[in-house]
Amino acid sequence: MSAKQGTALRYAIVGAGMAGILAAIKLREKGEAFTVFEKAERIGGTWRENRYPGLTCDVPAHAYTYSFEPYPEWQAYYATGGEIQTYFEKVVDKYAIRPAIRFGAEVTALDWDDAAAEWTLTLASGERQVFDVVIAASGVLHHPRMPEIPGLDSFAGPAFHTARWDDTAPIDDAKVGLIGCGSTGIQIVTAINTRVANLVHFQRSPQWIMPVPQFAYTEEERAAFRADPALIDAIRFSDEYIGNVRRFTDAITDIDGPQMKMIEEACLQNLENSIKDPVLKEKLRPTYRAACKRLIYSWSYYDAVQNPAVFVETGRIAHVEPGGVRMADGTFHELDTLILATGFQADRFIRPAGVTGRDGATLDTFWARRPTAHYAVTLPGFPNFFMLNGPTGPVGNFSLIDIAERQWDYIDQLIDLLRRGEGRAVAPTAAAHADYEERRIAAARTTIFGSGCSSWYLDGEGVPASWPWSYDAFDEAMRQPKLEQYAVTA
Ligand code: NAP
Repeated sequence: MSAKQGTALRYAIVGAGMAGILAAIKLREKGEAFTVFEKAERIGGTWRENRYPGLTCDVPAHAYTYSFEPYPEWQAYYATGGEIQTYFEKVVDKYAIRPAIRFGAEVTALDWDDAAAEWTLTLASGERQVFDVVIAASGVLHHPRMPEIPGLDSFAGPAFHTARWDDTAPIDDAKVGLIGCGSTGIQIVTAINTRVANLVHFQRSPQWIMPVPQFAYTEEERAAFRADPALIDAIRFSDEYIGNVRRFTDAITDIDGPQMKMIEEACLQNLENSIKDPVLKEKLRPTYRAACKRLIYSWSYYDAVQNPAVFVETGRIAHVEPGGVRMADGTFHELDTLILATGFQADRFIRPAGVTGRDGATLDTFWARRPTAHYAVTLPGFPNFFMLNGPTGPVGNFSLIDIAERQWDYIDQLIDLLRRGEGRAVAPTAAAHADYEERRIAAARTTIFGSGCSSWYLDGEGVPASWPWSYDAFDEAMRQPKLEQYAVTA
């Protein structure tokens, strides 16, 4: 019987973004005490850090909410980043989570003590606290990836990453350069093309664009949502959303199947029918398969890019000079502002915090080949350490909130073992995880993400880092942890 049976477990949640808030609400529901450690001064994670013009979540707003906290107030089918931040602020207040959050508290180290079965958490200030359970909810696309372009530091005007938006930077009637064509860069082109004097969009690789409808909800519709939450559920669980998710995960796992053909055809027709200028059309035509890079959903990019104020530059950047960007062919683009939509270091997760598990094993060592976690949630050798939106999960395939909620259900059942006093520490066995990882890698290589393109989905060895199975397989896996894959120790 556990020495801790009968005493409340002590929980640390790292990060006050969507997933950390979820964990806090769920623990509060169980009457558990916890502390959330947040390095910034506000909640919100991604939605706090990203404030660029055009920021919109490409998951339908009513599906990008907690299942237990529907929100009738969304202004449109796809919500803006600002609205989403407001939603999380409201939820945090409604559930009175804020007093349990330590702001300005960056976790720098987590050290497991096997004899005591507890984690020592160290903050940047040097302060230490001890916990039984750690929930790592520190986000995925978190650390900006800065491009290595000679002379970048010499640029005379503002040059900044999209997750560090500079509100003082000239955009209106200015000469603006934008490097990067992922979801972020595409959304920014869409938002600022009518504001700038001219916009040079530096495109290293073109993107397939999946056309989706965007529309505003009327006040009458919002009133109806308020009066009858079943109307919200009808959207959230509609074939429009869940059906699309199922079809999408079927497509990425059966890459020559009918669902993938439909995606490819929709993207191709979008390009063929939307872009008038044949030169621009060829510039925008990818040479890899649709959805190999993270598929871009847009209702307005192809209109925006045909604004004469926008020039798509496909040449190689030689270097940055104080006044602009010099191309390898000698062309010079004079710029007032340079925006870097160059993505994120997708392999960091809770790092740079140093995490040390059993027998001195570090996360850096365990992840030396690639970041991994058992079913994206737990790690052998790191007991009582649970990840929300950790490595190998279906990030990018459907609503991250949906993913985190299902992961929480799985985690909660493992924590229940500790609550019931069946032991003091729970972790997957190395053998079970090795088996999972072997199957996952084999499946991942055959997904569309491994079909021949570069992207943040690929790990250092070119293996797609994502969940390689269907939505239903994820649902099934998260319903109940297979306890034979876990070791519970006293
Ligand atoms: P990203 O998808 O990684 O795109 C980075 C872009 O920068 C790519 O076009 C890349 O070109 C380019 N790039 C990087 N280094 C470069 C260099 N040195 N020179 C020239 N170009 C360079 O990053 P992101 O657009 O920020 O999006 C990241 C992810 O965030 C998305 O895939 C999505 O999952 C998420 N996101 C979601 C939403 C949403 O609506 N839900 C919105 C924004 C972002 P290459 O392709 O040639 O490498």
